[in-house]
Amino acid sequence: MTNKKRILIVHTGGTFVMESNEEGLLKPGDYAFDYIEKTIPSFFEEEIVQTKLMNIDSSLFRPLHWINIAEHIRDHYDKFDGFVVIHGTDTMAYTASALSLMLKNLGKPVIMTGSQLPLINCRSDAFMNLIESVEVAVDGALKEVAVLFNHTVFRGNRVKKKDAWDFEAFYSPNYNSLIKFGIGMDKKPHRFLPEKPGVFDIDTRLDENVVMIPFYPGIDFSNFSIMVRKKKVKGIVIEAYGSGNIPSDNPGLEELFKDAAGNEVPIAVCSQSPIGKVNLRLYEVASKAAFYGLISAMDMTREATLVKLMVALGRYKSIVKIKQFMTESIAGEKESEHAR
Ligand code: ASP
Repeated sequence: MTNKKRILIVHTGGTFVMESNEEGLLKPGDYAFDYIEKTIPSFFEEEIVQTKLMNIDSSLFRPLHWINIAEHIRDHYDKFDGFVVIHGTDTMAYTASALSLMLKNLGKPVIMTGSQLPLINCRSDAFMNLIESVEVAVDGALKEVAVLFNHTVFRGNRVKKKDAWDFEAFYSPNYNSLIKFGIGMDKKPHRFLPEKPGVFDIDTRLDENVVMIPFYPGIDFSNFSIMVRKKKVKGIVIEAYGSGNIPSDNPGLEELFKDAAGNEVPIAVCSQSPIGKVNLRLYEVASKAAFYGLISAMDMTREATLVKLMVALGRYKSIVKIKQFMTESIAGEKESEHAR
Protein backbone atom coordinates (compact mmCIF):
# COMPACT_ATOMS: atom_id res chain seq x y z
CA MET A 1 0.00 0.00 0.00
CA THR A 2 1.25 3.46 -0.84
CA ASN A 3 0.35 6.70 0.95
CA LYS A 4 0.43 8.67 -2.26
CA LYS A 5 -2.62 10.81 -2.91
CA ARG A 6 -4.68 9.81 -5.95
CA ILE A 7 -6.28 12.34 -8.26
CA LEU A 8 -8.79 11.48 -10.97
CA ILE A 9 -8.99 13.61 -14.13
CA VAL A 10 -12.39 13.11 -15.74
CA HIS A 11 -12.74 14.02 -19.42
CA THR A 12 -16.05 15.35 -20.71
CA GLY A 13 -14.85 17.32 -23.77
CA GLY A 14 -14.92 21.02 -24.67
CA THR A 15 -12.44 23.20 -26.55
CA PHE A 16 -9.70 21.86 -24.25
CA VAL A 17 -9.61 18.57 -26.20
CA MET A 18 -10.61 19.90 -29.60
CA GLU A 19 -8.87 19.98 -32.99
CA SER A 20 -9.85 21.29 -36.42
CA ASN A 21 -11.80 19.14 -38.85
CA GLU A 22 -11.28 19.25 -42.66
CA GLU A 23 -13.32 22.47 -42.87
CA GLY A 24 -11.33 24.12 -40.11
CA LEU A 25 -14.15 23.79 -37.56
CA LEU A 26 -13.34 22.74 -34.03
CA LYS A 27 -14.51 19.29 -32.94
CA PRO A 28 -13.57 17.05 -30.00
CA GLY A 29 -10.33 15.18 -30.75
CA ASP A 30 -8.67 12.08 -29.32
CA TYR A 31 -5.16 13.32 -28.63
CA ALA A 32 -5.56 15.00 -25.22
CA PHE A 33 -5.80 11.83 -23.13
CA ASP A 34 -2.44 10.46 -24.35
CA TYR A 35 -0.77 13.86 -24.19
CA ILE A 36 -1.84 14.30 -20.57
CA GLU A 37 -0.77 10.73 -19.76
CA LYS A 38 2.73 11.47 -21.06
CA THR A 39 3.16 14.85 -19.37
CA ILE A 40 1.09 15.65 -16.27
CA PRO A 41 2.01 12.70 -13.98
CA SER A 42 5.70 13.56 -14.30
CA PHE A 43 5.06 16.93 -12.57
CA PHE A 44 3.49 15.38 -9.49
CA GLU A 45 4.51 12.88 -6.85
CA GLU A 46 0.88 11.90 -6.50
CA GLU A 47 -0.82 9.31 -8.64
CA ILE A 48 -2.77 10.92 -11.49
CA VAL A 49 -5.35 8.77 -13.23
CA GLN A 50 -7.63 9.70 -16.16
CA THR A 51 -11.04 8.49 -17.31
CA LYS A 52 -12.83 9.47 -20.51
CA LEU A 53 -16.46 9.78 -19.46
CA MET A 54 -17.57 11.61 -22.60
CA ASN A 55 -16.10 13.77 -25.34
CA ILE A 56 -18.57 16.42 -26.46
CA ASP A 57 -19.00 20.14 -26.96
CA SER A 58 -20.59 21.28 -23.72
CA SER A 59 -23.31 23.12 -25.62
CA LEU A 60 -24.74 19.63 -26.20
CA PHE A 61 -25.04 19.01 -22.46
CA ARG A 62 -28.40 18.14 -21.00
CA PRO A 63 -29.24 17.51 -17.35
CA LEU A 64 -28.57 13.81 -17.94
CA HIS A 65 -24.88 14.66 -18.50
CA TRP A 66 -24.73 16.38 -15.09
CA ILE A 67 -26.11 13.18 -13.58
CA ASN A 68 -23.52 11.08 -15.44
CA ILE A 69 -20.69 13.15 -13.96
CA ALA A 70 -22.17 13.01 -10.44
CA GLU A 71 -22.51 9.22 -10.69
CA HIS A 72 -18.97 8.90 -12.03
CA ILE A 73 -17.60 10.84 -9.07
CA ARG A 74 -19.71 8.75 -6.69
CA ASP A 75 -18.38 5.53 -8.26
CA HIS A 76 -14.75 6.65 -7.82
CA TYR A 77 -15.15 8.65 -4.64
CA ASP A 78 -13.54 6.24 -2.18
CA LYS A 79 -10.52 5.52 -4.38
CA PHE A 80 -9.47 9.12 -5.02
CA ASP A 81 -8.54 12.16 -2.94
CA GLY A 82 -9.63 14.77 -5.46
CA PHE A 83 -11.23 15.19 -8.86
CA VAL A 84 -10.54 17.41 -11.87
CA VAL A 85 -13.28 17.62 -14.49
CA ILE A 86 -12.29 18.83 -17.97
CA HIS A 87 -15.36 20.52 -19.43
CA GLY A 88 -16.34 22.97 -22.18
CA THR A 89 -16.74 26.55 -21.07
CA ASP A 90 -20.15 27.21 -22.66
CA THR A 91 -22.21 25.36 -20.05
CA MET A 92 -19.64 24.92 -17.29
CA ALA A 93 -21.57 27.26 -14.97
CA TYR A 94 -24.70 25.07 -15.26
CA THR A 95 -22.82 21.81 -14.67
CA ALA A 96 -20.91 23.30 -11.73
CA SER A 97 -24.19 24.49 -10.19
CA ALA A 98 -25.77 21.07 -10.69
CA LEU A 99 -22.82 19.16 -9.24
CA SER A 100 -22.67 21.46 -6.21
CA LEU A 101 -26.25 20.46 -5.37
CA MET A 102 -26.02 16.79 -6.36
CA LEU A 103 -22.80 15.92 -4.47
CA LYS A 104 -23.97 15.83 -0.87
CA ASN A 105 -21.56 16.10 2.06
CA LEU A 106 -18.66 16.49 -0.35
CA GLY A 107 -15.39 16.12 1.52
CA LYS A 108 -12.95 16.28 -1.42
CA PRO A 109 -12.08 18.85 -4.08
CA VAL A 110 -13.97 18.71 -7.39
CA ILE A 111 -12.24 21.20 -9.68
CA MET A 112 -13.75 21.94 -13.07
CA THR A 113 -11.62 23.47 -15.78
CA GLY A 114 -11.47 23.97 -19.53
CA SER A 115 -9.73 26.32 -21.90
CA GLN A 116 -10.22 28.98 -24.52
CA LEU A 117 -7.76 27.38 -26.96
CA PRO A 118 -7.32 23.64 -27.57
CA LEU A 119 -4.47 21.90 -25.77
CA ILE A 120 -2.85 21.25 -29.17
CA ASN A 121 -2.46 25.00 -29.79
CA CYS A 122 0.96 26.31 -28.72
CA ARG A 123 -0.58 29.41 -27.06
CA SER A 124 -3.23 27.39 -25.26
CA ASP A 125 -4.32 28.07 -21.71
CA ALA A 126 -5.32 24.40 -21.35
CA PHE A 127 -2.10 23.03 -19.92
CA MET A 128 -1.71 25.61 -17.14
CA ASN A 129 -5.41 25.41 -16.24
CA LEU A 130 -5.02 21.65 -15.85
CA ILE A 131 -1.77 21.83 -13.88
CA GLU A 132 -3.23 24.35 -11.43
CA SER A 133 -6.45 22.33 -11.10
CA VAL A 134 -4.47 19.22 -10.20
CA GLU A 135 -2.50 21.31 -7.67
CA VAL A 136 -5.73 22.40 -5.98
CA ALA A 137 -7.01 18.82 -5.99
CA VAL A 138 -3.72 17.58 -4.49
CA ASP A 139 -3.72 20.34 -1.87
CA GLY A 140 -7.10 19.11 -0.66
CA ALA A 141 -8.10 22.10 1.50
CA LEU A 142 -10.93 23.18 -0.81
CA LYS A 143 -13.69 20.61 -0.44
CA GLU A 144 -16.31 21.89 -2.82
CA VAL A 145 -17.17 22.10 -6.52
CA ALA A 146 -15.02 24.87 -7.96
CA VAL A 147 -14.09 26.31 -11.36
CA LEU A 148 -10.46 27.10 -12.13
CA PHE A 149 -9.69 29.43 -15.01
CA ASN A 150 -6.89 31.85 -15.78
CA HIS A 151 -5.05 31.32 -12.44
CA THR A 152 -8.21 31.88 -10.37
CA VAL A 153 -10.45 29.44 -8.50
CA PHE A 154 -14.11 30.35 -7.99
CA ARG A 155 -17.00 28.64 -6.25
CA GLY A 156 -18.60 26.63 -9.07
CA ASN A 157 -22.20 27.66 -8.47
CA ARG A 158 -21.22 31.35 -8.46
CA VAL A 159 -19.49 31.58 -11.84
CA LYS A 160 -20.61 32.99 -15.16
CA LYS A 161 -18.87 32.80 -18.52
CA LYS A 162 -18.26 36.43 -19.35
CA ASP A 163 -15.79 36.39 -22.22
CA ALA A 164 -15.55 34.29 -25.37
CA TRP A 165 -12.13 35.66 -26.33
CA ASP A 166 -10.04 36.61 -23.32
CA PHE A 167 -8.29 33.93 -21.27
CA GLU A 168 -10.19 35.36 -18.29
CA ALA A 169 -13.38 33.65 -19.42
CA PHE A 170 -15.14 33.40 -16.06
CA TYR A 171 -16.00 35.64 -13.19
CA SER A 172 -17.97 35.31 -10.01
CA PRO A 173 -20.10 38.45 -9.75
CA ASN A 174 -21.28 38.11 -6.16
CA TYR A 175 -18.67 36.04 -4.36
CA ASN A 176 -14.96 36.67 -4.24
CA SER A 177 -12.48 34.16 -5.63
CA LEU A 178 -11.31 31.29 -3.43
CA ILE A 179 -7.73 30.86 -4.63
CA LYS A 180 -5.36 32.92 -6.78
CA PHE A 181 -2.26 31.53 -8.48
CA GLY A 182 0.82 33.66 -8.94
CA ILE A 183 4.22 32.21 -8.26
CA GLY A 184 2.47 30.40 -5.43
CA MET A 185 -1.03 29.37 -4.43
CA ASP A 186 -2.82 32.08 -2.43
CA LYS A 187 -5.74 30.42 -0.62
CA LYS A 188 -8.59 32.35 1.04
CA PRO A 189 -9.81 29.65 3.44
CA HIS A 190 -12.36 31.94 5.13
CA ARG A 191 -14.26 31.91 1.82
CA PHE A 192 -14.22 28.11 1.45
CA LEU A 193 -17.44 26.24 2.03
CA PRO A 194 -17.35 24.65 5.49
CA GLU A 195 -17.28 20.87 5.25
CA LYS A 196 -20.61 19.28 6.09
CA PRO A 197 -20.68 16.37 8.49
CA GLY A 198 -22.22 13.20 7.17
CA VAL A 199 -21.47 10.53 4.64
CA PHE A 200 -20.87 11.54 1.03
CA ASP A 201 -23.64 10.58 -1.34
CA ILE A 202 -25.32 11.91 -4.44
CA ASP A 203 -28.89 13.01 -5.02
CA THR A 204 -29.46 13.41 -8.74
CA ARG A 205 -33.21 13.90 -8.73
CA LEU A 206 -34.36 16.82 -10.87
CA ASP A 207 -37.23 17.91 -13.08
CA GLU A 208 -36.28 19.53 -16.39
CA ASN A 209 -39.69 21.13 -16.94
CA VAL A 210 -38.55 24.64 -16.11
CA VAL A 211 -38.70 27.64 -18.44
CA MET A 212 -36.59 30.77 -18.13
CA ILE A 213 -38.20 34.01 -19.32
CA PRO A 214 -36.12 37.15 -19.78
CA PHE A 215 -38.10 40.35 -19.20
CA TYR A 216 -37.90 42.89 -22.03
CA PRO A 217 -40.00 45.89 -23.00
CA GLY A 218 -43.02 44.62 -24.93
CA ILE A 219 -43.05 41.02 -23.69
CA ASP A 220 -46.50 39.43 -23.46
CA PHE A 221 -46.73 36.74 -20.81
CA SER A 222 -50.08 35.25 -21.95
CA ASN A 223 -48.48 32.30 -23.75
CA PHE A 224 -46.72 31.26 -20.59
CA SER A 225 -50.05 31.23 -18.73
CA ILE A 226 -51.35 28.78 -21.31
CA MET A 227 -48.32 26.54 -20.68
CA VAL A 228 -49.00 26.66 -16.94
CA ARG A 229 -52.70 25.86 -17.34
CA LYS A 230 -51.92 22.98 -19.71
CA LYS A 231 -49.38 21.72 -17.15
CA LYS A 232 -46.57 21.92 -19.71
CA VAL A 233 -44.28 23.61 -17.25
CA LYS A 234 -43.54 22.83 -13.58
CA GLY A 235 -41.40 25.82 -12.67
CA ILE A 236 -40.56 29.27 -14.04
CA VAL A 237 -37.51 31.51 -13.69
CA ILE A 238 -38.12 35.13 -14.65
CA GLU A 239 -35.04 37.19 -15.38
CA ALA A 240 -36.19 40.56 -14.11
CA TYR A 241 -34.63 43.98 -14.53
CA GLY A 242 -31.96 45.34 -12.18
CA SER A 243 -32.75 44.65 -8.57
CA GLY A 244 -35.57 42.24 -9.45
CA ASN A 245 -37.96 44.77 -10.88
CA ILE A 246 -40.84 42.85 -12.38
CA PRO A 247 -43.58 45.34 -13.40
CA SER A 248 -46.85 43.52 -12.80
CA ASP A 249 -49.05 45.54 -15.14
CA ASN A 250 -47.09 44.15 -18.07
CA PRO A 251 -49.51 42.29 -20.42
CA GLY A 252 -50.45 38.88 -19.06
CA LEU A 253 -48.13 38.98 -16.11
CA GLU A 254 -50.60 39.14 -13.24
CA GLU A 255 -52.62 36.41 -14.96
CA LEU A 256 -49.45 34.31 -15.05
CA PHE A 257 -48.84 34.95 -11.35
CA LYS A 258 -52.41 33.84 -10.58
CA ASP A 259 -52.27 30.75 -12.78
CA ALA A 260 -48.91 29.75 -11.36
CA ALA A 261 -50.15 30.19 -7.78
CA GLY A 262 -53.34 28.23 -8.58
CA ASN A 263 -51.38 25.37 -10.15
CA GLU A 264 -48.61 25.38 -7.54
CA VAL A 265 -45.98 26.27 -10.15
CA PRO A 266 -43.12 28.08 -8.40
CA ILE A 267 -41.76 31.27 -9.98
CA ALA A 268 -38.22 32.31 -9.06
CA VAL A 269 -36.97 35.79 -9.89
CA CYS A 270 -33.33 36.41 -10.75
CA SER A 271 -31.82 39.50 -12.33
CA GLN A 272 -30.48 40.46 -15.75
CA SER A 273 -27.84 42.44 -13.89
CA PRO A 274 -25.30 39.84 -12.71
CA ILE A 275 -23.90 41.97 -9.90
CA GLY A 276 -26.10 42.66 -6.89
CA LYS A 277 -29.16 40.95 -5.52
CA VAL A 278 -32.87 40.74 -6.14
CA ASN A 279 -35.15 42.70 -3.83
CA LEU A 280 -38.83 42.14 -4.57
CA ARG A 281 -39.87 44.82 -2.13
CA LEU A 282 -38.17 47.84 -3.65
CA TYR A 283 -40.38 49.26 -6.41
CA GLU A 284 -44.11 49.89 -6.34
CA VAL A 285 -44.57 48.53 -9.90
CA ALA A 286 -43.21 45.19 -8.70
CA SER A 287 -45.32 44.86 -5.56
CA LYS A 288 -47.47 41.99 -6.91
CA ALA A 289 -44.44 39.70 -7.09
CA ALA A 290 -44.28 39.51 -3.33
CA PHE A 291 -48.09 39.35 -3.08
CA TYR A 292 -48.22 36.19 -5.24
CA GLY A 293 -45.35 34.56 -3.38
CA LEU A 294 -42.63 34.69 -6.02
CA ILE A 295 -39.24 33.45 -4.88
CA SER A 296 -36.36 35.90 -4.81
CA ALA A 297 -33.16 34.38 -6.15
CA MET A 298 -31.28 37.03 -4.15
CA ASP A 299 -27.70 37.06 -5.46
CA MET A 300 -27.80 33.72 -7.28
CA THR A 301 -26.72 33.64 -10.92
CA ARG A 302 -29.33 32.84 -13.55
CA GLU A 303 -27.52 29.53 -14.12
CA ALA A 304 -27.66 28.53 -10.45
CA THR A 305 -31.28 29.69 -10.13
CA LEU A 306 -32.43 27.58 -13.09
CA VAL A 307 -30.57 24.44 -12.00
CA LYS A 308 -31.63 24.82 -8.38
CA LEU A 309 -35.31 25.09 -9.35
CA MET A 310 -34.98 21.90 -11.43
CA VAL A 311 -33.42 20.16 -8.44
CA ALA A 312 -36.06 21.53 -6.03
CA LEU A 313 -38.84 20.22 -8.28
CA GLY A 314 -37.14 16.84 -8.52
CA ARG A 315 -36.78 16.52 -4.77
CA TYR A 316 -40.02 17.99 -3.41
CA LYS A 317 -43.71 17.85 -4.23
CA SER A 318 -44.85 20.48 -1.75
CA ILE A 319 -44.61 24.08 -2.87
CA VAL A 320 -43.69 25.08 0.68
CA LYS A 321 -40.68 22.74 0.65
CA ILE A 322 -39.68 23.93 -2.84
CA LYS A 323 -39.74 27.55 -1.69
CA GLN A 324 -37.78 26.69 1.44
CA PHE A 325 -35.11 24.87 -0.61
CA MET A 326 -34.85 27.82 -3.01
CA THR A 327 -34.51 30.26 -0.14
CA GLU A 328 -31.79 28.39 1.76
CA SER A 329 -28.14 28.34 0.77
CA ILE A 330 -27.53 24.65 0.05
CA ALA A 331 -23.97 24.75 -1.30
CA GLY A 332 -22.97 28.40 -0.94
CA GLU A 333 -24.83 29.37 -4.12
CA LYS A 334 -26.47 32.38 -2.49
CA GLU A 335 -25.78 34.92 0.14
CA SER A 336 -25.40 33.54 3.64
CA GLU A 337 -23.39 34.33 6.70
CA HIS A 338 -20.33 33.00 4.86
CA ALA A 339 -20.64 35.40 1.95
CA ARG A 340 -18.00 38.01 1.14
N1 ASP B 1 -18.05 25.14 -27.33
C1 ASP B 1 -17.06 24.82 -26.34
C2 ASP B 1 -17.71 23.99 -25.25
O1 ASP B 1 -18.35 24.53 -24.39
C3 ASP B 1 -16.46 26.06 -25.78
C4 ASP B 1 -15.30 25.85 -24.84
O2 ASP B 1 -15.03 24.78 -24.35
O3 ASP B 1 -14.61 26.85 -24.56
O4 ASP B 1 -17.59 22.80 -25.27
